[in-house]
Amino acid sequence: MIDVKKIIETIEELLADGSPQSSTYAALECRLAIEKVCYDRLRTAHDYISQHDLVRYRPHDVVKTLIAEVDENAASGLTLSMTRQPSDAYATPLEEIPDAEWIQIGTQAGFDPRKLGSYWQSLSNLALHARVPKSKDDDIPAYGDAEKIRRHVVEVVAELRKIATGTMLTSGLGEEVSFECACGRLNRRRSKLLRSGQIVSCVGVDCKESYSVSTESTDFYFTRRLLGIPCQCGARMEVPARIAENLKRHETLNIECLDCSERMQLTWRLARTSLT
Ligand SMILES: [Zn+2]
Ligand SMILES: [Zn+2]
Repeated sequence: MIDVKKIIETIEELLADGSPQSSTYAALECRLAIEKVCYDRLRTAHDYISQHDLVRYRPHDVVKTLIAEVDENAASGLTLSMTRQPSDAYATPLEEIPDAEWIQIGTQAGFDPRKLGSYWQSLSNLALHARVPKSKDDDIPAYGDAEKIRRHVVEVVAELRKIATGTMLTSGLGEEVSFECACGRLNRRRSKLLRSGQIVSCVGVDCKESYSVSTESTDFYFTRRLLGIPCQCGARMEVPARIAENLKRHETLNIECLDCSERMQLTWRLARTSLT
């Protein structure tokens, strides 16, 4: 878990310096802090989602994906407590045990991903770009408007202070379903957030496998996505769909038939189709 308090100290030291240069560096630290806060939630959730399933990498988009696919409470404030007394075979909800002695385990700080996303963007606009000159006579100032940058940094620090109160991160609660990938890794998903037709990639960083999800009643099925390539010998070679989908233009994939050892190359090509 990242140390947000330490980051705030660094930002405050830069602000205390008071120079336009230090305010700019403080804005950069704020922007990095927003990225670290959001990516820290992703790291905690990585048992449940592959990096390949993130459509966008902007920090607030990453958190929105986590909320949609891993944990509805990925950006919510939560407190985790437990009792010293064991529940009577879970027959009585713990909240109803009158003398239950609750011990607080930790607190997850909540935040609004849209608000952090908006700060992330505005910090960049205000402080982290040189101004484009409008004419030949226009100057190029060394830094942005120091006072505006400072005010904005102070606002973001107030938001970071709330996040710094958190003492833990959770990857969420809820019923799980799992399947074993062809690479041998066990992949887990929250059943409540799975939908038919969804494509999920294996959580293995070096694995290229992906699966399509189908549901039937309360059952979940994960079908390995493969591209079937017929060989002249009649055998059929199977290539993980993600490998073929991620081939770039002019890139080739070499494959070899396991039955007759024929070697082939796969390449994406433009195709002309007559419409008449
Ligand atoms: Zn895998
Ligand atoms: Zn063959």
